[in-house]
This record gives sequence, structure tokens and C-alpha cells, in this order.
Amino acid sequence: MRVIRASAMGVCFGVRDALKVADTVAQPVQVTVYGELVHNPLVQQRMQRRGFQQFGEGEHRDAIPDTPHVLITAHGISQRRAATLRDAGKTLLDTTCPLVKKAHAAAIGLRDQGYHVLLIGRPGHVEVQGITEDLYSYDVLPDSAAVKTYHHHKLGIICQTTTPSARALEIRAAVERKNPHAEIKYIDTICQPTKDRQLAVEDLLNQVNTVVVVGGKNSNNTRQLVHRCQDRGAVVYHVQSAAELDPQWFESIEAVGLTAGTSTLPETIEDVYTAISSMGGVSRFATDNSPCNKYPRKIKTGGQADAA
Ligand code: SF4
Repeated sequence: MRVIRASAMGVCFGVRDALKVADTVAQPVQVTVYGELVHNPLVQQRMQRRGFQQFGEGEHRDAIPDTPHVLITAHGISQRRAATLRDAGKTLLDTTCPLVKKAHAAAIGLRDQGYHVLLIGRPGHVEVQGITEDLYSYDVLPDSAAVKTYHHHKLGIICQTTTPSARALEIRAAVERKNPHAEIKYIDTICQPTKDRQLAVEDLLNQVNTVVVVGGKNSNNTRQLVHRCQDRGAVVYHVQSAAELDPQWFESIEAVGLTAGTSTLPETIEDVYTAISSMGGVSRFATDNSPCNKYPRKIKTGGQADAA
């Protein structure tokens, strides 16, 4: 069995730089990570072992950390929340990705020009929270079904950085269709590493029918890769590590594709690659108890991508 790697996959520069900053922290116990540094369970465990304090991304968001320093993740936070932390005497170690900052700047620019902001993205995602908390007038659009006719005369559209380009265009078209009365401004804030990984997975899907996607279950861009494979009719396995692989998945398969989200470390990808390669050549007949029904991370075409 051949294992074909996507031409672009894994850690992006934004995640890499955030990890470097965390690595330079001399006294982790003095630092609270404001959310998950990256959506990667392996990284989370390492941070905890080093002694970093950790805030979740949901329930504790409004509390003030006890530590004197707060590490802002690559996903960013709102200006309002940053001011609250500074007013409480906290020093911020800001690892916000420059491309997330670009999305914030686009949103604030639209706000200041009187636009109602339409943010294409996943409601509740920490990056989406960070952008919308500085806005007064906005809607978050996960898909074109969420698009309405708005009473506003100026509509400004931006995207969560990890949005698939095709979905953004679809939603933009729906906004234009339902709001012919409005002046509509579209700013493409999808990041280039995400676009590169999406293009690479298209190329992969031209070569294989089965794909392993490596990445955190709550990683938005990883989930988007899974969804894209699913939409193209591929058999998809979403794993966080090599330990989750099963040899039966690769029975009678000549080639399998491998891709990974932007928060997946190179060593995790290598582990998965090595493990799949060692599983190649396993030859057993499929039974009624097929992995299609047996293994929860197998994503069937048209099914729900991931419960997480
Ligand atoms: S996925 Fe894009 S926006 Fe997010 S950290 Fe990576 S480069 Fe930055």
C-alpha cells in the first residue's frame, strides 16, 4: 500500500511561532494560557506537564487568571478583553497570529465605516469570539442557510481564517442574492496556509479514495479537511495520533492519502505515516462487521463529520 502525503499539511507559521514563544517561557507556573495554545491534545499535555496554568475556551472566559502573566493564543482575543486583562494588572504574552490580527483589523475597519459585519465562521469558536466581541452589529454565518435579508444598508463580509474558500464564496453569493438593496463589501480574510492545505487535499483526492486526516477534534481547519474529503466521497479517518489507527481500515487498499491540520506537529504526522506504512499489506476479507460501522472516527460520505 502506498501512503501519499498532501503537498501542504501540518503546522503553519502562526502555530509554530506561538509554540516558540511558549518554549521560551522560563517560569510556566507564572503564566496562564488563555484558552488552548493550539487545538492539539499533545501540545496541551506538554504545556500542562511544564506547569502552565490553563483557562478553558468556554466557561472561565470572563474570569481573571490568578497568574501575573497571561499568554494569548494564536487564535487571538478582542481588544475589549485584552484591556480587561491589562486593567487587572496582567502582562500579556501575545502570540496572536498576524493573519488573525488582519481579520480583526478588517472587522474593526468595517465597524468604523458603519457596516453591519457578517462573519463567515463557526459560531462559538474562540477566534470568532475574539473578532465579534469588538463589534456592535454583526451576525456569524456558518453556512448559506443562515443568511437572511438584513435591514442594514451596508453589509461587510469577512471570514474566520480557516474557512474553506468555496464555502465563503457560496455564503457571499447568498448574502448578495438576499440583499439586493444593500451595499456589500467582501474582504477575504482566509489565511494562506489554510488555502494551501485545502488545495493540497483537492490534489490528494484526485489520487486516492481513502484519506487519513490528523489533527485535534476541536481544530476547525482539521474538521474542514475532513468535511472536504467527505464531500468528495472519500472514506475519511480523523485521528489525533497513531494510537487511534486500526489495520483493518487499510485492508485491500492500494493507496491512502495523508493530510493534517495546521495545529498538528510534524512528529505526530511522522508517527502516523510510519504506523500506516507498517500496516500496509495486511490482507483480510471484509466482513459484515465492517469498520464502516465499527469505528467511530470513520466518516462516511454524507454523514456527520465529528461529534466533537
Ligand atoms: S491557521 Fe492561519 S490564521 Fe491560524 S495560526 Fe495558522 S496561519 Fe495563522
